Amino acid sequence: RAKADGRNRLRLYEPALHRRLMEDCSLEDALRRALVNDELRLVYQPQFDAGDPERLVGAEALLRWEHPERGAVSPGHFIPVAEKSDLITELGRRVEKILCEQVGAWRAAGLDPPPISFNVSPRDFREGEFATALFQCMTHHGIGADQLQLEFTEGTLTERSDIVHEEIRRLHRQGIHLAIDDFGTGYSSLVNLKRLPLAELKIDKSFVGGLGTDENDEAIARASLAMARALALRTVAEGVETPQQLAWLRAHGCDRVQGFLLAHPLEAEDFRAMLQGTRRAR
Ligand code: C2E
Ligand code: MG
Ligand code: MG
Ligand code: MG
Repeated sequence: RAKADGRNRLRLYEPALHRRLMEDCSLEDALRRALVNDELRLVYQPQFDAGDPERLVGAEALLRWEHPERGAVSPGHFIPVAEKSDLITELGRRVEKILCEQVGAWRAAGLDPPPISFNVSPRDFREGEFATALFQCMTHHGIGADQLQLEFTEGTLTERSDIVHEEIRRLHRQGIHLAIDDFGTGYSSLVNLKRLPLAELKIDKSFVGGLGTDENDEAIARASLAMARALALRTVAEGVETPQQLAWLRAHGCDRVQGFLLAHPLEAEDFRAMLQGTRRAR
C-alpha cells in the first residue's frame, strides 16, 4: 500500500490524478470534521422474509453523511477515501457506537428490533483490534451478540488473512453472526466460504438487477443460492426493485429480500415506527 502510494506521488503531473488526490484530501479533512461535528448518522433498511414479505426479519444499517455545504455525500464515495487513511478505523468505531446506542434505546423503549447488520471495511479487520473494540461497545450499551450481525465483502479476505481469520473466529466465538456481502463481485476463494464460520450470504444487487430478464445474472444467482444451501448459509438478495425479481427469488428459494421494492433505507424514527407497527413472528 505505502509503496503504491509512493508511486502515485511521482505521477502528480497527471492532471486528472492530481485533481482526484486534491479532492480526496479535502474530502478527508471534511470527514475528519464530520466526526467531530456529528454529521454522520445511520439509516436502517428493512429486510423481509422472501416467502412472506410482510414479515420483518432484519435490517441493514447504512452510514449517511450530511456535509454542511455539499449536502449528502454517498458512502460509496467517502468510504473509499476513509479507507485510504486512518479515518476508517474511527469511522467504524463511530458506526458501532451509533448502532449500539440506537439498539439499546429501542430496547429500553420496549421494542424488539430484529438483528441489525452493519458493514465493516477490510481495514477494520486488518488492525486486529476490531473484535475487542466491538465487544467493549456492546457491553457498554448492554447489547447481546444476537442483536447484531456483521457484513464484510470478499475483499476483506484477500489480505492479511491470518489476522482477519482470527478476528472472524473471535467474533464467531462470541456468537456474532457474519454475512458475506456483495457475493460474487470480489476475488476471494470459495475455500473461504467453507473455512469461515459464516451465517449468511448476500447476493449482490448487480445480479439481482437482471433476474427475470438476464440469463447470465440468473445463472449466477442460481449457482450462488445452490452453493449457499449446500453450505447451510442463509441467503439475502439486496437491491430487489421489481415484483418480477421478488418472484424469481422466491421461486428459487432465496430466504430474505432487501430493496427499494420493499423499503428504502429509513431514518431511525421511521424504522422505529415500523418496529412499533409490526409484530415480529419468530
Ligand atoms: P452495501 O453494503 O452493499 O449496501 C447496499 C447498498 O444498496 C446501499 O447503498 C443501499 O442503499 C443500496 N440499495 C438498497 N436497496 C436498493 C435497491 O433496491 N436498489 C438500488 N439501486 N440500491 C439499493 P449505500 O447506502 O449508498 O451504501 C453503499 C455502500 O457503502 C454499501 O454497500 C457499503 O459497502 C458501504 N457502506 C455503507 N455504510 C457503511 C458503513 O457504515 N461502514 C462501511 N465500512 N461501509 C458502509
Ligand atoms: Mg452491506
Ligand atoms: Mg451489499
Ligand atoms: Mg452491494
